[in-house]
Amino acid sequence: MPASTPANLSGTATATDLPQQFDVIVLGAGPAGAAAARVAAASGLSVALVDKARFPRDKLCGGGVTGRSALYFHEIYGEEIPARLIDTKNSVEFHADGQPLGFLPEIPAMHLAMRVDLDAEMQARALAAGAMDFSGCRVTELDLETPALRLADGRHLQARVLIGADGVNSQVARQLFGQSYDRDQIGFGLEVEAAPGPDNAATPLRIDFGAADWGYGWHFPKRGSSTIGIGGVLSRNADMKAAMAAYLALLGRDPGLPCKGHHLPFGEVRKHPGRGAVLLAGDAAGLVDPITGEGIAYAMKSGQQAALAAAEALAAGTPASALRRYRRRLVPVHRAMRQARAIRVLLFSHTFRPAFIAAFRRSGRLRHLYMRLLAGEIEYGDMARATLCRLPSLLTRAALTRIRPRGRDQDA
Ligand SMILES: Cc1cc2nc3c(=O)[nH]c(=O)nc-3n(C[C@H](O)[C@H](O)[C@H](O)COP(=O)(O)OP(=O)(O)OC[C@H]3O[C@@H](n4cnc5c(N)ncnc54)[C@H](O)[C@@H]3O)c2cc1C
Repeated sequence: MPASTPANLSGTATATDLPQQFDVIVLGAGPAGAAAARVAAASGLSVALVDKARFPRDKLCGGGVTGRSALYFHEIYGEEIPARLIDTKNSVEFHADGQPLGFLPEIPAMHLAMRVDLDAEMQARALAAGAMDFSGCRVTELDLETPALRLADGRHLQARVLIGADGVNSQVARQLFGQSYDRDQIGFGLEVEAAPGPDNAATPLRIDFGAADWGYGWHFPKRGSSTIGIGGVLSRNADMKAAMAAYLALLGRDPGLPCKGHHLPFGEVRKHPGRGAVLLAGDAAGLVDPITGEGIAYAMKSGQQAALAAAEALAAGTPASALRRYRRRLVPVHRAMRQARAIRVLLFSHTFRPAFIAAFRRSGRLRHLYMRLLAGEIEYGDMARATLCRLPSLLTRAALTRIRPRGRDQDA
């Protein structure tokens, strides 16, 4: 709709209801939305960055910032993540079903952040690049045809492309497809910000397979707190609160500590992340690694790619071609998610898991590959290729071996 024929969202033209025009509206200013807004604004587009929250705002999350996230942060913001926002860890402990599984003393750097700070930094950088700030603004009407939206204070925004980066409960996805996510597939995480241990600076990361079914538990020791959580496929975890209490007890913490919960799209990638000139990015597009639960990196990457696809489509004068361009750009991310989904059966299914755990215990190489994967140094395809030739013997040996605790082993 050209700017000369303003209309309200119900379609009735009014003289007083001139919409503010933008090239791109980005709905949601988390890692996906901030990246999209920053990249679109840096490409010379006019951008409205809308979020119902005012920043700084919190987001339930472990705050595990992998090497992949750090790489994408650099790509998008042109700098390293500021050191004041992260603690960096170089060692990790793995456990399974309460038993030590292995200790890796020299992993590729893994950073820990508090999302309240990290997200505020990214949103501020998007605004500094020229995006217009509509934070603290609730959306009361959303028209995906135009596309346009109205804010609770009555303001009316219109754009040629809309990027829905509004998280797992995405209003944009719900309006496009009838639901934000599939209830049978969705993941769920519970988390506690507990008091930091006295030696958090020296304490390794901790990952506990089996703390949740089709998922895992984590202890991320940060300078100001210890983030403890479990996450897994919701439909496979009948009583997650009980599992969380058990995990807290295992870590020597009060099982009654108050925890918070949040959905996460744990492996239900949207093949068609949008429609025409409306694109979905980050959790709204289901872009969370189905094994590790990592979502920050894919949110940033998809936000960046959505903005580049929008810029291309607008330069070509065909906003509706944005989705086609975006899908092409997302091919590597979608491939990685598909591969991870295939591999996760080995890690999480009751049939294969004991053998995989035993293989993981025996093989330092497998553990290192897992950490390199987390660091973004390799992808699932590389990991599968590197392990497949050894997997039959690893699994056979593992299946013949009873799992027994071996402490901080570093075998090869
Ligand atoms: C318990 C838990 C632990 C996790 N741990 C990790 C981890 O350690 N590392 C990792 O990489 N990932 C982790 N994740 C996943 C990660 O948190 C998400 O993948 C990531 O936040 C997705 O970013 P996003 O920008 O797509 O969405 P979000 O970060 O959810 O941002 C969405 C934004 O949209 C806004 N919004 C929503 N609806 C509207 C609306 N209607 N109007 C306006 N604004 C709206 C929200 O206020 C929010 O600011 C975890 C997830 C959970 C649940």
